[in-house]
Amino acid sequence: MNESEKIMAARRSEMVRDLRRKGIIDERVLEAIGSVERHRFVHEESLDYAYDDAAWPIGYGQTISQPYTVAYMTSLLAARCSPPAKVLEIGTGSGYQAAVLDALGYRVYSVERIPELYERAARLFRSLGIPVRCRLADGSLGWEEEAPFEGIMVTAAAPDCPQHLLGQLSPDGCLVIPVGGQDTQQMTVCRRSGDRFEKELFHHFAFVPLIGREGWN
Ligand code: SAM
Repeated sequence: MNESEKIMAARRSEMVRDLRRKGIIDERVLEAIGSVERHRFVHEESLDYAYDDAAWPIGYGQTISQPYTVAYMTSLLAARCSPPAKVLEIGTGSGYQAAVLDALGYRVYSVERIPELYERAARLFRSLGIPVRCRLADGSLGWEEEAPFEGIMVTAAAPDCPQHLLGQLSPDGCLVIPVGGQDTQQMTVCRRSGDRFEKELFHHFAFVPLIGREGWN
């Protein structure tokens, strides 16, 4: 390990301690977050701050999610759906959340609607040897050809739970999604039980909007 890798590794460990202090208690999630090199996923200009608990711009008006948010959503998913489940992420963005899901042992599929972000993330996954399957499309419609999924995670704000995503859950699958207005949303878990869906509501967050047929215009 060279000097700068050692510095990044130390910052990553400190970030994990910070997440633990903030209430993230799932050790599997903390271990996965501790193993993913977030500095590979941020833009050059955010490199020094890669392990701060903050969202940073990744271009095209989008952001890499804050580590706390990634840990929070991943904990909600991991409590309901264990690896190696097949999981779909909507909103690949930088690729960081998908890489954390992969590190946990999920079989990860991810959809992005902005071509430049999709291409950058796909290149990064290839170069880091991360086996996330990704696709350029409107993720509010899911990924029909690969359904069903035991878990679906949406990393953009939706006005409601998209019917296409609910329909692509396996019979006991769950959807983790921030639902609300364009300013703040409530983290929502929608659990399928056969033909029925049960909703649980959690903390408030502020995400960029899910743009698409079952999102915002
Ligand atoms: N998960 C990302 C990460 O780890 O960097 C952060 C996601 S960023 C907060 C939200 C992403 O959702 C953006 O990249 C945005 O382009 C994408 N997005 C918005 N609407 C979408 C849609 N309908 N289908 C797919 N991606 C969408």
